[in-house]
Parts: sequence; C-alpha cells; structure tokens
Amino acid sequence: MSDPLAGPDGDSLIEGPATTADERRAVVATALAFLLLAALTPFAARPEPAQPLLAAADCAWTVLSAVVTALLLVSQDVVARRRGVAAVAIGYLVLALLAGGEFLLATAPGAVAPRALGRALGGPGAGAAGLSWPSLSGLSLIRSFVLSPAVLVYVALGRAREHRETLERARRRLGTGDLVTGLAVCLVLFWGAVPLLILVLKTLAPALAGLTSPAGLRETARVAALLDLIALGSLIARRDRSRFDLWLFMATLGAFCEVTLLGLFSAGPFDLGWYGASAFGAAAGAALLVVLLLEGGHHVRQLREVQASLVASNRALEHQSLHDSLTGLANRRYFDAYLERQIALSRRNRRDLALVLCDLDDFKLFNDRHGHQAGDECLARIAAVLQTCARRPGDMAARYGGEEFALILPETDLISARRIAEAAREAVARLGIPHYGGPAGGAPVLTLSGGLAVIRGDDAGSAEALVAAADAALFRAKNEGRDRIVVADAA
Ligand code: GH3
Ligand code: MG
Ligand code: MG
Repeated sequence: MSDPLAGPDGDSLIEGPATTADERRAVVATALAFLLLAALTPFAARPEPAQPLLAAADCAWTVLSAVVTALLLVSQDVVARRRGVAAVAIGYLVLALLAGGEFLLATAPGAVAPRALGRALGGPGAGAAGLSWPSLSGLSLIRSFVLSPAVLVYVALGRAREHRETLERARRRLGTGDLVTGLAVCLVLFWGAVPLLILVLKTLAPALAGLTSPAGLRETARVAALLDLIALGSLIARRDRSRFDLWLFMATLGAFCEVTLLGLFSAGPFDLGWYGASAFGAAAGAALLVVLLLEGGHHVRQLREVQASLVASNRALEHQSLHDSLTGLANRRYFDAYLERQIALSRRNRRDLALVLCDLDDFKLFNDRHGHQAGDECLARIAAVLQTCARRPGDMAARYGGEEFALILPETDLISARRIAEAAREAVARLGIPHYGGPAGGAPVLTLSGGLAVIRGDDAGSAEALVAAADAALFRAKNEGRDRIVVADAA
C-alpha cells in the first residue's frame, strides 16, 4: 500500500523537472517550427483567398485561450508556489485584454457582419469606415510585446529565488570593507548601464512612434522578435529547467514565429504569411493551455489515487483497531461494542442472545512447559477452531483477553447455545494438543472450560450482567473439574 502521507509523486506535468525526453521533444518542436518558418517566408507575401472571419476568430481564440490559461495558472496553485508564474499569468491576462480590444476595433464599423469585418480588416471592400491594414497589424504587434517581458520577469524572479540563499550566506560572511567594495562595483555598473539604456530607448523610439507606417511596423516587429529571442535564450539558459519552462519556451517560440511572419514577411491581410502567423499564434496560445488542462486531469487522477489509498489505509487501521493481531479474532474493544449492539437488537426484536466465555485449562502450565511461543501458536489454532463454531451471520468469536475467548450468539436460545458451546469444547479437545495433564492430573490434551449465559428477549439485562453471569458459570466450570460447559444460574 502506498503511503498516503507521502504526498504527490512530484512528476507534475508542470512543476516536475524537465526530463531528457521532454527536452528532446522541445528540440524537435523547435526544429519543426523553424523549418515551417523558413518554408513560409519566401511565399509570405503571396495573396490567398480572403477569410475575413478568420481574423475575428484569431482574436477570439487569443482572448479565450489567454484568459483560460491565466485562470488555470492561478487556480492550479502554480502561482502560489512559484511567484514568477504570476508574471506569466498577468502577461496572459494583458494579452487577453489587448486581443479583446483588437476584436472590438476590428469589428467596430459594421458590427459583426462578415462584409463589414472584411472592410475593417482592409480586405475586399475596405473603405473609409474600416481600419487600414497597417493600423490593424500595429494593434496585433502590440500583443507581441506582452509574452516576452512576462517570460523575462518569470526567469528573473526564478533566478532571484535561486540566489537569495547564496546572497544571504554571503551577506552573513561580509565585513564592512566588502560592503564598500560592493557599493563601488554597483556604482560603476550603474554608470555603465545608463548609456546602454539610452541605446535601447533610441532603438525602440522609432519602433514605438512608427506603428502606423509599414516601415515602422517592420521596425516594431523586429524589436518584438528580438525580445522573443532574448526570452527564449533566457529560458534555455536556466539551470534545472522545469517542464513549465519548456512549455513556456514553446509558447514564446510560437509568438516569435508569429511576429516574424506577420511583421517582417507578410505584405498584408490574407496572404500566406498572414495565415501562417495566425496559425503560429493559435499554436502558441494552445501550448500552455493544453498542458495546463492535462495537468488538471493529472491532479484529479492523483487526488483519486491518494483518496483510494487513504480509504484503504483507514480500513486497514480500523481492522487493526478492532482485531487481535495474534489470532485475527475480534479484540476486546470490538467485543464490548458488538455485545452492546446485539443486546439492544435482541431487546428490540425480542430474541434470545447467548454468550459463552471460554478459558483454556491450565494454560499457564502449558506455557511453563512448552514455552510462550508454542503457547502463542496454540492460541492461534484454538482461535481458528472457535471461529468455525461462530458460523452463522451475526455470530462472533472474540479474544476476550489472554487465553480467554468469547462467543456471542445472537438469536440463539439456551439449547442451541449449549450445543454450540459443547461443539466448541469438543473441537478444542479433538485438536489433541499434548498438555501432560494439569496439576490435579487433568486431561492429557489441552482442554477448554466455558460458562454460558443467555439473555431472553423479554429480559432487560445489561451487557455487564450477561458477562458477569457467564463469568460466574465459567468459574464454576473450573471448580467442577474443567473441560466442561456450565450454564449460568440466571439463564
Ligand atoms: P485455569 O485452568 O484456572 O484457567 O488455569 P490457567 O493457568 O489457564 O489460568 P491463569 O489465568 O492462571 O493463567 C493464564 C495463562 O495464560 C497465563 C499466561 O501465561 C497465559 N497467557 C495469557 N495470554 C497469553 C498469550 O498471549 N500468549 C501465551 N503464550 N500465553 C498467554
Ligand atoms: Mg484465564
Ligand atoms: Mg486458563
């Protein structure tokens, strides 16, 4: 039985470490994506039949997949355990908002009628009321600036967590001199970073300003593609890559192919590059979504397994708590509870209830002569015999304590109970376990004495009274010479 407290097995689709097989799959997917990209780029500007609704479907799919992805990231507790994932979830929410806005703008002039949508997209019949291709593509390109920063924040936060402990250890070891040196290094780095920052802003400025011109679009797309490449590189460079890292890599790769085709090679809506970009975008949106949905199923399966093993171990614990480990019979605790219940039932149904208390004769002597181990084996054999005597549904054979046993016989009158008790006594004697006789020169084999008491259906007796009556009868059986069944006076 598996240990239910051991928790999930750690092979989570998302949080588990990436295996060589996972990495191999990612390499194959990357190679395929680049091959497809390379195959499409020469024909990217080739016009294809216009499918105006596809643009709307593309936006709708982005909204849907991004919202669900973000919600799944949050709901599956991945965010709670790994702060960096929150950045990805936020990224997906922003993506959904932008795609939603784009959808509204693209369908604005003529609501959702296909012709109006076609006009809006700059396709056949595009007019003054519709958005022009560059502005629409510009909107799409803004979306391309969302995922890569989210990935970079994710990687940075992960790295910060990795380094937190190292820094903490270093801080404890550092003296004041080291701190001054550290500060000086930080200042130099800062002054070095300022020109770099200016350079980046200068590169970005025309891209941001030129969203409406085709040249500006290409510039913007180049920056977006570059950011995607940096994000991809940062994911590859991670130590101890998780599966989540790989799936994020796939999503970013899809986004990179999309922006490359759309921004750098496509000449406008409904050419091959535009359709290819839509396909890459859709695949990128599906990457994390599919794995998160699978992860949900995985969690449910894990929960079911844990639940099943908990139920099984609860049953085993319950069995252990109610049964005697040496003989397998009901133990004293079970006996007490069962007797109470059967007495209540016998009173309600006005049926007789019999109790036989049995005690092995001169068992101390048996132990003294044959050893405790042989005594234990003997107790187990006697228990098996008594169990066969309690054969009707409701009958119970229990180990009352030490070498004392009990038979609870519901719906059994005195005559039947006496027959069963005698049968049990004879069966024990028939085992022929050599005993060498008791101190008073008793039987040569191990024997059993029993006291029998019966509560009649119309009696208002208690369990204590019944046990006391059977015990008194057993005492008499011992005094009268053992190896016999004596019926209690009160019965
Ligand atoms: P009597 O005929 O009067 O019942 O004599 P007795 O020796 O059987 O009675 P007594 O109550 O003096 O001794 C009971 C013995 O049963 C004592 C103990 O050695 C033995 N016994 C009780 N529980 C176990 C057990 O779990 N394993 C073994 N091997 N012996 C046990
Ligand atoms: Mg005893
Ligand atoms: Mg005894």
